[in-house]
Amino acid sequence: MPEIRDCIVLQGPALAPHRCGRFAWRDDTITALEVGAPCVRLEAGALVVIPGLYNSHTHMGDSCLPDGATGLTLEQGFFRPHGFKYRELAKLTREEHLPHVINHLRYMARTGTVAHLDFREQGPYGSELLRAAAQATGVDSVILGQFNGVPFDDAALAANHTPLPPDSRRELEAIMDVADGFSESTMNDLTDSAWREIRELTKQRGKLRAIHCLENAGYRDVSLARTGRGDLVRALELFDPDIIVHLTVANAAEIALLAASGKTGVLNPRANANLGLPLPPVRALLEAGINLLLGTDNGLLNSPNLLAELDFTYKLAKSQYGDALAPDPLAILRMATVNIRPVLGGDHHGQLATGLPATFVVLDFHQPHLRATRHLPASVVTRVTPEDVLATYRLGRELYRAEKFEPANT
Ligand SMILES: [Zn+2]
Repeated sequence: MPEIRDCIVLQGPALAPHRCGRFAWRDDTITALEVGAPCVRLEAGALVVIPGLYNSHTHMGDSCLPDGATGLTLEQGFFRPHGFKYRELAKLTREEHLPHVINHLRYMARTGTVAHLDFREQGPYGSELLRAAAQATGVDSVILGQFNGVPFDDAALAANHTPLPPDSRRELEAIMDVADGFSESTMNDLTDSAWREIRELTKQRGKLRAIHCLENAGYRDVSLARTGRGDLVRALELFDPDIIVHLTVANAAEIALLAASGKTGVLNPRANANLGLPLPPVRALLEAGINLLLGTDNGLLNSPNLLAELDFTYKLAKSQYGDALAPDPLAILRMATVNIRPVLGGDHHGQLATGLPATFVVLDFHQPHLRATRHLPASVVTRVTPEDVLATYRLGRELYRAEKFEPANT
């Protein structure tokens, strides 16, 4: 069976770095993880094994348009029906589009990502396209489908009492036949009764629910003007989402509400920064005890490289804490690993132990910028580049492996 000897493993739910005499796997399962002494410092490098990374907010459909929204506002770039993203995606044939998505999933694998939660536009067709790309690459695409068009006009949204039109209901059923769940751009895209219908249908079919909230103040303001309630309040009340993305302008009352709900938040500060938006209150969300995940958002806005997101998020949080000790870098790494467990369950553990899935990444800490680290968790979070990823495995399947790396075989 394949194995790695004399490495460092970030093991267990604490992701604690320990020396490891032998890390072995057979088929999809870790069969040996011989835990040695704790190890925070290196003198002359090592192979470092970490859990496979989860990117919990992507739109890989628009990865074919890198930096296409540069110079555009959030509304001009990303809102239906006339935003740049939707206009450009509608021009592509499946044959033109699919190779872009496959190539970007491969890029995710070579940067240590094993799975992603994708907010997939273009209705059932879009979900099917991503499913095909996932099957071609072995990256696990958790697909959260979205309506192709906007089911309501402005007058219906303002009146806020129309149920989901029959055509949209059929589209929703068709999305659910392919996708793992449902997502929408904002709570302001649908009426309250439509949200209740979608909640019930997705619950009946055992699907996930996801929504963007509080990306900017406009999300809250439009919702308040139409319904008297902010978008986060309505999301929790009407849609019961499994994950809530952005939270960049969440205020103290909203953070308390989210904490009381027990829901998971997803942050993507690099994408927020790139749009000139406020940065999420990472410190306040962590201190409120909210389960947090990390994402990279639109492919056209941001590279789907979680290593860069970990670095940015850690430094943002550090600045907000204003403290030499907080946060622990591993608290940030948890957002891309173990914190996925309450949302996805099943084979998704985000941690390494004997008997758990062989879903891991091998990092080359022999590189000059890593080999003498004085704080291994901090270096994993802030200094590892895509070139330092030697291999990425999901359930024992090799998603990426550098030529210079080969596991031993016994
Ligand atoms: Zn999104």
